[in-house]
Amino acid sequence: MSKKKQPEELSELGEFGLIDQIASKTKLFHPETKLGIGDDAAIIQTKEAQQLVCSTDLLIEGTHFNLMYMPLKHLGYKAIVVNLSDIYAMNALASQVTVSIAVSNRFSLQAIEELYKGIHLACERYKVDLVGGDTSSSPSGLCISVTAIGFANSEKITQRTGAKHNDLICVTGDLGAAYMGLQVLEREKEVFQQNSQIQPDLASYAYIVERQLKPEAQKQLIEFFDQQNIQPTSMIDVSDGLASELFHICKASNCGVQIYEEKIPIDQQTHSTALEMNLSPTMCALNGGEDYELLFTINQKDFETLKDQKNIHIIGHITEAEAGKNLVTPNETVVPLQAQGFKHFNT
Ligand code: ADP
Ligand code: MG
Repeated sequence: MSKKKQPEELSELGEFGLIDQIASKTKLFHPETKLGIGDDAAIIQTKEAQQLVCSTDLLIEGTHFNLMYMPLKHLGYKAIVVNLSDIYAMNALASQVTVSIAVSNRFSLQAIEELYKGIHLACERYKVDLVGGDTSSSPSGLCISVTAIGFANSEKITQRTGAKHNDLICVTGDLGAAYMGLQVLEREKEVFQQNSQIQPDLASYAYIVERQLKPEAQKQLIEFFDQQNIQPTSMIDVSDGLASELFHICKASNCGVQIYEEKIPIDQQTHSTALEMNLSPTMCALNGGEDYELLFTINQKDFETLKDQKNIHIIGHITEAEAGKNLVTPNETVVPLQAQGFKHFNT
């Protein structure tokens, strides 16, 4: 460690200097944010008939992210996005976030600035206001906790509980890509650790690596529901894998599901990389994690409105609880769904 203090060092800037710097780079987008960073608490104007929706995530270095392949700017972006995803999954629009960080002295001021570049970029992209947080030191690693706040009219808020027999099961985008991206990054890390002369060639995995490092949340679906006056009967975001999320809906709504393997949306790059690694693309889509797509159910009357939406895929329907949770394979075999979840799948 250098004894000479650089003017740019985190220790010299101090907690309050850092907070001032964060505040000076923070833009507010919502007139409802009456007060942001600076006082003991933020002030948010509420509207009648609306309810506040709130969600928190904690990210720990070594448990949830690895800085060997996760650039800090991406980490900041992802920390915001995964929280917004939870708010959208309630059919609400996110409007404010708070960000708390614990940083060890192994991080430079420049590193923290990179983290906040990603945080500010996500706030700009999704039009949410950074209204506060907390700053602390940590003995070794980096911890980030984000709380997201959103609002929705009470009758629009969608829980996991409302799925009904014969509702259609829909999912946005494609699945399994972030998981395959992680597998590629892990593989390249091993190669690099053995021989640091070998630079990873990730060009042919660009899409799946981006899905892992820079996920997006599905704000446009919430806007679409609003414009089309569609009320999903249940909804959840896909953070642990499709199978696990379907299990959550079944438990909360006391129902069963039947989904069709050929209807599960899988990108070509996910498919080919899975085969290259001797993995089943379907298993990756069912049990991989961190897709941050939205899984929802709708009444069949809404089929016409949804059927031509390129980004929405109808993958099956809700059944009675007694019928169980089933996957129909391309040769029409019905197999019970297993919810291994991301973590188990990973070991
Ligand atoms: P307190 O002692 O009440 O925790 P702080 O000095 O930690 O107050 O925070 C002062 C202000 O700065 C508050 O508005 C707080 O929300 C905000 N703040 C602190 N840390 C961060 C951070 N990492 N990002 C954004 N805002 C922060
Ligand atoms: Mg504080």
